[in-house]
Amino acid sequence: MYCRFCGKEVKEKSIVCSGCGRPVDDPSNLTKTPIMGWTWGLLFALIFVSVFFPPIGLIFGIKGLFSEATKVKASVLLTVAVFTTLLWAALILGL
Ligand SMILES: [Zn+2]
Repeated sequence: MYCRFCGKEVKEKSIVCSGCGRPVDDPSNLTKTPIMGWTWGLLFALIFVSVFFPPIGLIFGIKGLFSEATKVKASVLLTVAVFTTLLWAALILGL
């Protein structure tokens, strides 16, 4: 195949063009690049956090509201927890 940026012929399995160094636009190579692996790792971490954050945030947020010392922090925590819950609801209903 040929590079779509400079037109140089690139090997079937190469990820970047040897002529201009730009990524070769082959869908089969996309999952193999380190950047994609990193993105997936981050995505999984985000999903992991967003799954566990709403219940924990709601519990500690409500608990904290009853104490004057933690009231402000608790309301912030509760807001974020409610927001993530709504985000999940939107995601699930959207699918
Ligand atoms: Zn090129």
